[in-house]
Amino acid sequence: MPKKNADLIIQHAKQLITAKGYTEKPATGPQMEDLGIIEDGAIAIIAGKIIAVGRTSDVLHNFLATETIDATGKTVCPGFIDAHTHFAFAGSREKEVELKIKGAGYLEILQSGGGILRTVRDTRAASKDELIRICRKRASNLLTHGTTTIEAKSGYGLDLENEVKLLEVINELSRKGPLTLVPTFLGAHAVPPEFQGRVREYVDLLCGGWIPIIAERHLATFCDVFCEKGVFEIDDSRKILLTGKRFGLLPRIHADELYSLGGAELAAEVGAVSADHLLYISPSGLEQMKRAGVIATLLPAAPLTLMLDRYADPRNFISHGVPVALGSDLSPSCWLENEQLVLALACYKLKMTPAEAVMAATINAAHSIRMAQQIGSLEEGKMADVVILNVPDYRILGYRLGGNMVDMVVKGGKVVVRYGALA
Ligand SMILES: [Zn+2]
Repeated sequence: MPKKNADLIIQHAKQLITAKGYTEKPATGPQMEDLGIIEDGAIAIIAGKIIAVGRTSDVLHNFLATETIDATGKTVCPGFIDAHTHFAFAGSREKEVELKIKGAGYLEILQSGGGILRTVRDTRAASKDELIRICRKRASNLLTHGTTTIEAKSGYGLDLENEVKLLEVINELSRKGPLTLVPTFLGAHAVPPEFQGRVREYVDLLCGGWIPIIAERHLATFCDVFCEKGVFEIDDSRKILLTGKRFGLLPRIHADELYSLGGAELAAEVGAVSADHLLYISPSGLEQMKRAGVIATLLPAAPLTLMLDRYADPRNFISHGVPVALGSDLSPSCWLENEQLVLALACYKLKMTPAEAVMAATINAAHSIRMAQQIGSLEEGKMADVVILNVPDYRILGYRLGGNMVDMVVKGGKVVVRYGALA
């Protein structure tokens, strides 16, 4: 039989991590270590999609390539997916590191007008063009570190005009690519200064005014809420998430990060796709998440940058069959653009195995943002989002800290990063 023509073949990977077999349902329990590794592996790509995955000799038997990439001695894996970012913001908050060192807590900094509210002032003051410029640079940083898709929240506008501005920035950057951004409306990130002490009124405005407009303009896929003691408590969070759902926005939630408030239970009740943080999840919350099929998206850099000693316990979820995904929590208080470091922190601080961390940052993260049909694994029919790492073993992702192991990034079949820099 004559060989078929492929646009691109990546061949001779020392380890080809496919993460295959979990497109319909996320990996749970022991499946979270099932990387589907092919040694001396190859991928053939046509028109941006993967058309063959296998041993190099088998792939080359069937396909001829216009362009080839030699991955000898390297690890090839699905593009990293960051399932939780506060990507769109202006300004920075380096001074808060000293406040945290002196013992100020998250809610304390927020209540004194710092934290999120500081970033809200900076973000409102930035024009849309300025934000696009800032965010494009940030997107490049993510890409050069191997991230090909992110979930990106609004939440630093906290008025309709500026929330729309942020979602438009996210949507525009995603349209232009190469990074894919999945937009989340997080109007319920903090109570804006204009509504201090009037949470209920703000929630009514979100539900009665903003959510319908954002949904009608197709600006967001998800609706999120910062469900926390003294911010948006359970009843308000429920109202926001159910309103979003009624208008077609999928629910996800910041749950049980600082207190055991019942956020995980609420996630199950409203059918959230993902509940995130979960440091203080209760046993009943865990049980209900499992029953409702909610994904636990864990963010190891969040407690690190809040200087907390407590971390989420992935064993709790994995042993109960709740799928675990990972995210960076990229934000002005947790400025982390390197997903490789998220994986290493998941190993060092959460004690996930390197294999679990890789599954959590690829196929399970794809489920967390409802994109598993398109991305998250190297399988026939999926988008060719691929990272080539300058290391011979995936375990090095859970070992080396903070550097950049990325050699190349292929996004939708095109080389967008070469030698660790934008191509
Ligand atoms: Zn967050």
